[in-house]
Amino acid sequence: MTDRVISGRVLTFRRAPTGAGDAGSYDYFPDGAVLIGGGKVEAVGRAESLLPRAGGAPVDRYAGKLILPGFIDTHIHFPQTQVIASYGAQLLEWLEKYTFVEEQKYADRDHAARNAEFFLDELARCGTTTACCYGSVHAESVDSLFAAAERRGAGMIAGVAIMDRNGPPALLDVGRDSVAASRDLIRRWHGAGRQRYAVTPRFAITSSDAQLAACGALLREFPGLYMQTHLDENHDEIAAVRRLFPGDPSYGAVYARTGLLGPRALLGHCIHLDDSEIALLRDTQSVAVFCPTSNLFIGSGLFDYSRLAAHGVRIALATDVGGGTSYSMLQTAAEAYKAMQLRGQTLSALAAFDLMTRGNATVLGLEGEIGTLAAGSYADVVVLDACATPAMAHRMETVRDLEEELFVLMTLGDDRAVKQTYVKGRAVPRGLNPRRDPPPSTP
Ligand SMILES: [Zn+2]
Repeated sequence: MTDRVISGRVLTFRRAPTGAGDAGSYDYFPDGAVLIGGGKVEAVGRAESLLPRAGGAPVDRYAGKLILPGFIDTHIHFPQTQVIASYGAQLLEWLEKYTFVEEQKYADRDHAARNAEFFLDELARCGTTTACCYGSVHAESVDSLFAAAERRGAGMIAGVAIMDRNGPPALLDVGRDSVAASRDLIRRWHGAGRQRYAVTPRFAITSSDAQLAACGALLREFPGLYMQTHLDENHDEIAAVRRLFPGDPSYGAVYARTGLLGPRALLGHCIHLDDSEIALLRDTQSVAVFCPTSNLFIGSGLFDYSRLAAHGVRIALATDVGGGTSYSMLQTAAEAYKAMQLRGQTLSALAAFDLMTRGNATVLGLEGEIGTLAAGSYADVVVLDACATPAMAHRMETVRDLEEELFVLMTLGDDRAVKQTYVKGRAVPRGLNPRRDPPPSTP
């Protein structure tokens, strides 16, 4: 039974666009409606044909606004909400100086729980309804995140960061077994409600060979798990992996040998892949995750989208907060466009919006659940306003078609362009994350 209707200009993708102007890749209803019942989409189409079927359910009207499936972020670090915007370092120094310090605080359950609420509020404010999240090494971090997500009805993918060397002692497996902790969390959370688990070795530098192999064994033990880690982000990182794993022909080969690659393997960055690693990713159907704001901010390099796509590597898009500089997938798409411009490549607005929604859902194998507004999907929805700021409204005066509007949205838009987010058919209250009083030491 329909319990809510959202009406406005409805846009949902059917398949990956072949380029700008590919009108067959999406469904667009200028006067459209989404019928929702029991948290799922019942029907999508023209308002005049659907509204009579709604049986008096309340209608949320968004005249002129765009209604899309909620955005999906395929790589983000939940314990880095107070690492984002840390100055002046490249990857390995940035980890030591900022990230490893901040992540130690997540041993405290109250800190983890408070930040889980902030994190999920912030994602919703930016229109993101599902994210693949790295936790800290502490079970408390992921447990708090899953519990908060489940209370909100939001589907998240997450896992505790696993590391046993080359980090501060407090984050390593000393008196703690993060593979065992992962197994525990998998039993409690993987497939519980909307939550799914990702085995999360941070990267090859911080895990021994035995630990990576234990992660591979965990993936074989429980079906349907994800695996998330980092690959080929930075030249010093790659050199360190070569020193630590002298028997392996490449960084990617370390993950292949320890059983970590596959269709549910999400590999952050993949900037400096050699030909053999590209072949490994293609043959195992692993996913290269493009994190443009992070790649630019940490100075890691330019993702070669066209080269990977030409070789048949599956590609996803992500923020990588806190190395990334924005929670907004719109801003992430804008930086993806710019990073690709520097390589002489392009990202059409259609391709970008498909990636943020259906495309990212598809690489996760979740296209039947999220990423489109097809009947039967969860009613995770974002409502966008391309006139949200004076500069956007002014630019919109000259916009002639949908694609141009989408390009304005991704180039100039951010959380301010998100009019409303719905999770499982419920509007997420706006105005969350009020500014807290600064601590007394703040100048
Ligand atoms: Zn990352």
